[in-house]
Order: sequence, then structure tokens, then C-alpha cells
Amino acid sequence: MSTEGIVRGYDFMDASSIDEHVICAICAHPFIDPVVTPCDHTFCKTCIKSWFDKKSECYLCRKGGLSMKALRPANHCMMNILDKILVRCLACEDENIRRGDFADHLENHCLYHPQKCSASDLKCPWVGLRNQAKSHHSACVFETLRPAFEDILTRLHTIEKENKSLRSENNDLKEELMTLEREFNELEGVIKNNEEHGHSRRTGKNVSKSKKSSDYAPELRDKHHHMFTSDDDKDETTRNINTHLPATHEVNVNIY
Ligand SMILES: [Zn+2]
Ligand SMILES: [Zn+2]
Ligand SMILES: [Zn+2]
Ligand SMILES: [Zn+2]
Repeated sequence: MSTEGIVRGYDFMDASSIDEHVICAICAHPFIDPVVTPCDHTFCKTCIKSWFDKKSECYLCRKGGLSMKALRPANHCMMNILDKILVRCLACEDENIRRGDFADHLENHCLYHPQKCSASDLKCPWVGLRNQAKSHHSACVFETLRPAFEDILTRLHTIEKENKSLRSENNDLKEELMTLEREFNELEGVIKNNEEHGHSRRTGKNVSKSKKSSDYAPELRDKHHHMFTSDDDKDETTRNINTHLPATHEVNVNIY
């Protein structure tokens, strides 16, 4: 029995009849996932990969400078020959199964191949044989709870989506808050300068060092022009800014 058979769960019906052209020189078994080198030598993908870990040359002809990137998959003709090799299932002892169909045999037909519960997607840990699966299935708690699980999963999915949109909304609000804070700081500077300007005017000092409101960015000046027409207006502006900012903070907190 080949090591490949033990690992894969089958044995060859007649190993001696297998065409020598489909035998891997490295593992001495029919190719699995065969790949072809630029020098036209074929190997199992995993066999040549482990070989390249040691040497970057062809295992057979020693052509150098090779890597996995230089390889191409074997052609359909080769794949057909490999798929047609007949094997025997080690679990149920079914014979004459095409090697290309063996995975399907295990998955869907083999009576003795351990299989998972149909509710394994819901984390049912049961593993057993196909002929025991029916009785497990009728008693499986996970399968019974499937409608409830699926309902919860759907709701979880909705919550995840909502959470994602709230996060992006939160980021928008943070940006808005930063803009407002910047604007607030600018306005504070303007107000301070304006106060100094008023003070200098009242005390009769030279005001040329203080910035006049007309020196600030036009958009800021236009937006807040009315604030500087009187002291009453200025106080109202300060009040507006102070009430506006904490309100934005409050929205931010609610998101979390
Ligand atoms: Zn091999
Ligand atoms: Zn070669
Ligand atoms: Zn089987
Ligand atoms: Zn189950």
C-alpha cells in the first residue's frame, strides 16, 4: 500500500498497470496536482515545492534558476489519465472508484467515512458514519434550533450594518466638530483683537498694531460681520458659539 493511499484513504486497484509517464520521480506515485517545469519535467506540486526549498533546480535534469513561478499546470490529457486510475476505498472497501471521483465518494457515498453533522455550520460537534447520521439528525439540538439561530444571525447582520453606518456618521461628526473648534478659536482671536482695538481707541493709544476686523479672511469677516457692529452683538456671538459646541459634543457621546 502506498503512503499516498494511507493519507488519501485509498489504494490502487492495480499499481503495476499505471503508466510510468504519470509517476512522480520524487514520491514515486501517480501525480497529484501535477505541474510542469520549463524543461518539460512533471512533478506533484507539493513534491517540487519541497524540493525547491532545498535547491532551485529541476529534480531530474538539474536545470537551474527555477522557482514555483516558472511552473505551469499539466495539460488535460495528463489530468484525464490520472483521474481514470482506479482505486479501492480503505474505509468501505468499495472497488474500482476513479481516483478523480474519490473525493466525491468520501463526501457523498462512503458509508464508513466519518462525516460532520448537517448542522456543523451551526457548530454541532457531531462526527460519525453516514449510516448513523440519520438518527443523529433527527435528534440534533442544533438542527432543531436552526430557525432560531438563523433569525439571530439575520438580526446580528442588521446590527452590524447599522453599527458600520453609525461609525461613519460618527467620523463625519468628529470632522465637523474639529472644523467648529477651529472656527471657534479663530473667532476667539478676532474677538480678543477687537476688544484690544476698542480698548486702545478708548484710551487713545495707537491702534496700528492691532488687527482690524477687515484684516481677517473675507469669508470669516462676511460671515460674522454683524458681530462687530456693537458690544451687545459681540456678546450674543460668544453665547451662540458657547451653546453650539457642547451640543455637538453631546451628539458625539450618544453615538457610542
Ligand atoms: Zn510526487
Ligand atoms: Zn528538467
Ligand atoms: Zn468508501
Ligand atoms: Zn448535529
